[in-house]
Amino acid sequence: MITGPSGVGKGTLIRTLLERFPQLRLSVSATTREPRPGETQGVDYHFLTRAEFEKRLQNGEFLEHAEYAGNQYGTLRSELDRAAEGLVLEIELQGARQVRQALPEALQVFIKPPSLDALRTRLIARGAESEEQIARRLDVAERELAAEHEWKHVIVNDRLEDAVDQLASLVATLWDEQPRGDSQ
Ligand code: 5GP
Repeated sequence: MITGPSGVGKGTLIRTLLERFPQLRLSVSATTREPRPGETQGVDYHFLTRAEFEKRLQNGEFLEHAEYAGNQYGTLRSELDRAAEGLVLEIELQGARQVRQALPEALQVFIKPPSLDALRTRLIARGAESEEQIARRLDVAERELAAEHEWKHVIVNDRLEDAVDQLASLVATLWDEQPRGDSQ
């Protein structure tokens, strides 16, 4: 499970990680936010209306969910049914806390920026959000960064290659620690 403020580079880190570990799969979250240009339904997100999201929530279909910067986000339990092992969740703080309760054995990694200023620069450079949305995301980021101590594993995403290497060594321990099965 990978958490960290918006704009910290989780997406790029995870894409690189998935290239290194073909046994990993990224969970496709549900959200009520509008698709960005280039985003595809069912690939980047399951884009749902508020009513659909609410209905699925009432039906108990979510492992976790949270309101983030004015929209709902959540992990559908069906994502875990497909293959829980090697499933990567890229989620914000409140959802991560819920997953920590539900799946305490999951590897939990917090990605942080070198500074809040660096984060601001990245969010502006990404150009995906309005000024108001960026301000909102930076507000949330400050709260998320204050919760850094909750994580056993914290990686600073300064140089991408370094951050990927650190993440990759953590992920590799997952397989090292797995019992090898009955060898008799
Ligand atoms: P974005 O709108 O930039 O795609 O995502 C905004 C935030 O929502 C990011 O911090 C992202 O990690 C988080 N997020 C994406 N999917 C989920 C999810 O399924 N559950 C939760 N709790 N957060 C999510």
